Amino acid sequence: MVVLKNVAKTYRTRRGEVHALSDVSLHIEKGEFIVLCGPSGSGKTTLLMTIAAMLRPTSGSVCIDESDLYGINIRERAKFRARNIGFVFQMFHLVPYLNIIENVLLAGRVFGQNPRADTAGDLLKQLGLAERAFHKPAELSAGEKQRTAVARALFNRPQIILADEPTGNLDPDNADSVLGHLSEFHRSGGTVIVATHGQTAERFADRVVYLRDGSIEKSG
Ligand code: ADP
Ligand code: MG
Repeated sequence: MVVLKNVAKTYRTRRGEVHALSDVSLHIEKGEFIVLCGPSGSGKTTLLMTIAAMLRPTSGSVCIDESDLYGINIRERAKFRARNIGFVFQMFHLVPYLNIIENVLLAGRVFGQNPRADTAGDLLKQLGLAERAFHKPAELSAGEKQRTAVARALFNRPQIILADEPTGNLDPDNADSVLGHLSEFHRSGGTVIVATHGQTAERFADRVVYLRDGSIEKSG
């Protein structure tokens, strides 16, 4: 279970303070598929990063199961993130000089163990990328790149996948395919949180949470 209590995030810049999140409290049950909806600038990315153990809130707490993400030290937090959280970005963020299977295997390296190439190969097969395993990202279509990013997010068998506008650069068919794979992860018991300013993901959701100006406007 993910529990956010009174989370606020203020970015301090040379031009002044930006209040990206204010007093966000949210419970997400294990196995829920949440769509986080809101216009550009409403705080979706900030909220996802905070849940993903990548961005410390200015105040408030984020707990996943028994772990208080910002109460533990940075090493423990990194380990927690690698074990439990998969992240899919709008712009894919694949490493350009590594091929597809190497990009997926990279997720496993975070642990310092030897990641298994056969597991990565199986994942690529499931995502329809078997033929692309030895290609570089630049040789792939946007849909293929994002399916690679989903494979990378799945590789460590996380309990939660967070996706930040994962279909923002995809045509409708590829968007459906990516959301379908996230939905499959959800059916197998995983928790999914997808941020979006559109409506494509809503039909997959158990619950839609609406953000506006850094606050939850409506949930459920
Ligand atoms: P969304 O993902 O919904 O578009 P963001 O979380 O990216 O919203 O941004 C929320 C607000 O915080 C916006 O006003 C944005 O300009 C601001 N913001 C985001 N990141 C930073 C940053 N690193 N420094 C300063 N302001 C930021
Ligand atoms: Mg964003």
